[in-house]
Amino acid sequence: TSPPIVLNVNGIEVIYNHVILVLKGVSLNVPEGQIAAILGGNGAGKTTTLRAISNLLKGERGEVTKGSIELRGERIENLSPADLVQRGVVQVMEGRHCFAHLTIEENLMTGSYTRTDKAEVARNLEKVYTYFPRLKTRRTSQAAYTSGGEQQMCAIGRALMANPSVVLLDEPSMGLAPQIVEEVFEIVKDLNTKEKVTFLIAEQNTNMALRYADYGYIMESGRIVMDGAADDLRNNEDVKEFYLGVG
Ligand code: ATP
Repeated sequence: TSPPIVLNVNGIEVIYNHVILVLKGVSLNVPEGQIAAILGGNGAGKTTTLRAISNLLKGERGEVTKGSIELRGERIENLSPADLVQRGVVQVMEGRHCFAHLTIEENLMTGSYTRTDKAEVARNLEKVYTYFPRLKTRRTSQAAYTSGGEQQMCAIGRALMANPSVVLLDEPSMGLAPQIVEEVFEIVKDLNTKEKVTFLIAEQNTNMALRYADYGYIMESGRIVMDGAADDLRNNEDVKEFYLGVG
């Protein structure tokens, strides 16, 4: 039997500044315990899709004008980002956004603001360090002086401090060397397998994302133009030609 659907995005349209139609009817399903990827080039609408789910469009003067978004069958379009965190949905923004002047550990602790149980927070911190041993060795370093890879790990680690069941991960590969991207994806896969965290990942690096994802959605100009099991997409001739590069 197939796993239940955690996130269901059904025909959403998103408009920025009241006029710019950016998502033109996007639908996708994310099954519990899987890694789904939204793929496509610059400006395709990947970030907008994630922002629509986590209700982070307002700050960008954007709004969902059509369609629906459900978390385990419940409509969530009107929940605040904080409500969504309480329900286990956390977004890791593109560009990492660590607080430069805080240490790695202080950054991680900012992710536990919804948690009041100190013992639980301590357990979560240890769990993050188990998955990201690099962060443990850098715990007292100011984020500004850590590498891009460590900052990406810190951003994911901070999201994990809220004990999420669903993580929306925006462009984790951005600006990182291939080897570091691989390290980050390995940890994501580990979290998915061992902690049963469901991931929806927006990525331009189609090749890397499809190696780790279960299912992929390819976006172009605000629409999903193709979707399928990650292995099928990797072997699809059109995908190879247009998205995976030659060889
Ligand atoms: P990237 O990888 O560059 O983030 P993306 O696939 O995530 O690309 P989006 O960031 O969702 O794409 O952008 C989709 C479209 O919406 C682009 O044409 C972009 O210029 C436009 N857009 C994004 N944010 C805004 C905004 N705040 N106001 C107006 N237009 C926006």
